[in-house]
Amino acid sequence: MIALSGITKRFGDHTVLDHIDLELERGEIIVVIGPSGTGKSTLLRCINFLETPDEGQLTVGDLNLDVTRATKQDILALRRRTAFVFQNYALFANKTALENIAESMIVVQGMAKAEAHHRAREILERIGLADRADAYPAALSGGQQQRIGIGRAMATGAEVILFDEPTSALDPEWVEEVLGLMKQLATERQTMIVVSHEMQFAREVADRVVFMDGGRIVEQAPPDRLFTQPDDERTRAFLRKIL
Ligand code: ATP
Ligand code: MG
Repeated sequence: MIALSGITKRFGDHTVLDHIDLELERGEIIVVIGPSGTGKSTLLRCINFLETPDEGQLTVGDLNLDVTRATKQDILALRRRTAFVFQNYALFANKTALENIAESMIVVQGMAKAEAHHRAREILERIGLADRADAYPAALSGGQQQRIGIGRAMATGAEVILFDEPTSALDPEWVEEVLGLMKQLATERQTMIVVSHEMQFAREVADRVVFMDGGRIVEQAPPDRLFTQPDDERTRAFLRKIL
């Protein structure tokens, strides 16, 4: 289970996340939507301490911590349980597809190189890129690079994968293959938190859609309900703009 309780983040005197409470069961998939600058990326980044939250409690699986007292070991333990997929893939340019996937198994999980490479080949099969194992990112399409980004997250065996607009930097022709891989993960009941403007994906895949505005969760509901009968005027106004 994943639980955030009272998660708060300030940049100077700007409160970007204001006491966020959010819970997910294992295998649940949620899509987070909301206007630009509303704290969606910051929320994901706080879940694995890419940003340090100022207040609150985080639970990921069997790890439970008060963010104000998190030790280096806590943060490492948290990062082993969470994986991040970035908008711009963030692959290592000087490593092959295989090495990009193997890297975190070696560095974060301390796996032996041979074992990590073996596992990375299995992941490459699952993401349909077995034939590109030795390619460097520059030789791959945007869609292939992002599938490697997702493969790298899958390889960590994390409790939850955090996706920050994983398709928004892609040329339109590559979006479907990346969403397809995410749907495959959803079928396998990988717990995921996805920030995305892909409403069709949200409709098909999300158990719950969370609408954020101004650093708060305004409402959350299954997609059928949130998209057709939102409770809050801010949600209605946002949906009018994007649907
Ligand atoms: P978008 O839809 O445009 O990606 P978002 O909902 O992801 O927006 P965030 O990137 O989380 O929004 O940003 C929330 C607010 O926090 C914004 O006002 C942003 O300017 C501010 N912010 C984010 N990161 C920092 C930082 N490192 N230092 C200062 N302010 C920041
Ligand atoms: Mg963002």
